[in-house]
Amino acid sequence: MKESVNIIWLRRDLRFNDNAALYHALKSNNAVLPIFIFDRNILKRLDDEHDARISFIHQTLVQLQAELNKIGSTIKVYYGLPIEIWKNIITEFRVEKVFINGDYGLYARKRDPAVEELLKENNISFHSYKDQVIFEKEEVLKDDGKPYTVFTPYSRKWKTKLNNFYLKPYPTEKYFSNFFKAESFDLPTLESIGFKPTRIAIPRTNVADELIKKYDEQRNFPAVNGTSKLGIHLRFGTISIRELANRAKGLNETYLNELIWRDFYHMILWHFPHAAKNAFKKEYDKIVWRNNEEEFKKWCEGKTGYPIVDAGMRELNATGYMHNRVRMITASFLTKHLLIDWRWGEAYFAKKLLDFDLAANNGGWQWAASTGCDAAPYFRIFNPSEQTKKFDSELKYIRHWVPELDTFDYPKPIVEHTFARNRALETYKTGLQK
Ligand code: FAD
Repeated sequence: MKESVNIIWLRRDLRFNDNAALYHALKSNNAVLPIFIFDRNILKRLDDEHDARISFIHQTLVQLQAELNKIGSTIKVYYGLPIEIWKNIITEFRVEKVFINGDYGLYARKRDPAVEELLKENNISFHSYKDQVIFEKEEVLKDDGKPYTVFTPYSRKWKTKLNNFYLKPYPTEKYFSNFFKAESFDLPTLESIGFKPTRIAIPRTNVADELIKKYDEQRNFPAVNGTSKLGIHLRFGTISIRELANRAKGLNETYLNELIWRDFYHMILWHFPHAAKNAFKKEYDKIVWRNNEEEFKKWCEGKTGYPIVDAGMRELNATGYMHNRVRMITASFLTKHLLIDWRWGEAYFAKKLLDFDLAANNGGWQWAASTGCDAAPYFRIFNPSEQTKKFDSELKYIRHWVPELDTFDYPKPIVEHTFARNRALETYKTGLQK
């Protein structure tokens, strides 16, 4: 006879503590089986078999499995197309209810309703909760009921709305005895889903209060270990945004603001999905990019002859991480100095960043390219040497990543700064006049 279960489908919420959907599942009428699907649609787009994000998810699932095994329970992990997998699950188990935490990505916005429909046809109810952000969708709107497109007033409204209710953890631990009891199911190996272990080290989840307290003083200097490096954990839900925002609230306003930027970009893409593929401000789609492939390759490899740009790209290639200040400089350089379409840079970051997140990446790129909602004006063109003087004056960061800086091996600048600046101004101006 088929076993009766309720299911929590984990996606970007790979933890059991303070998890909204899991809490509601565990309090429901039935034993709860957690599942995870390695989605073939997503995996087939990754061309590096050592992709660190897949290793990270896999390691996390192994840990979750160990946690469950200790209490006589188990997770079930699948590999395939979600809709096909769900067809199998409902023949394998007698499923009554399915619980998820909402995912606001463009792909998820098609995938989840399709699964919901299949489940409904089979009399299985589908329950969705907010977990990934503090405020979602229509929760923070302007007084006229429209979404904000500028960060500062959005963040003000966000802060006035915030109270302890939104930061309260879900006490899932109290109900762990309601996990489905079974022999441990085997997890698919990394190799069986087409991947191999990464050589990249994943940043830890714990961050000292001291770092957050000094965040506003230290966050702009790439040679200093002054930011939390929690991006990947927020991306995959291995830490709770409520827990982090609660800490930030007491420790550092600037750090809290960064978490609000995260909510802001999710909200933007939710209301303005066209921005995923096109300029948020449509007139900027008229800019004619140069899109020189050789120059793009040099940018990717960190061989532009601009040390701060090259240091950033090499950090990204080696570690899957790039400091925020340097993300802004490298993105500005690609779009303004080289006049390469921001979507090329966005796609490269998407491939490489451990913390890649469609909403934040798209927001960051459109900000740098001046095509975004609350973006830098187009005539604001970062001067790499001025940025270096301000934020890496002792060249510590640069020398770390570009050891051959003072030798003949280091390339000459790919383009002269003033020339590139004027060319960018002219190109943007002409494009916008069309
Ligand atoms: P911290 O400085 O410690 O900040 C804590 C957390 O706040 C981050 O982990 C992140 O979740 C959030 N956060 C901070 N700054 C921003 C921001 N500007 N927008 C949205 N969220 C923010 N962030 C991503 O999470 N994923 C991306 O794919 C991404 N791509 C970017 C591309 C460009 C061109 C730019 C300019 C920025 C991008 N960012 C992205 C934002 C930011 O650079 C990173 O979140 C940050 O550098 C990650 O390092 P950290 O975890 O040490 O962040």
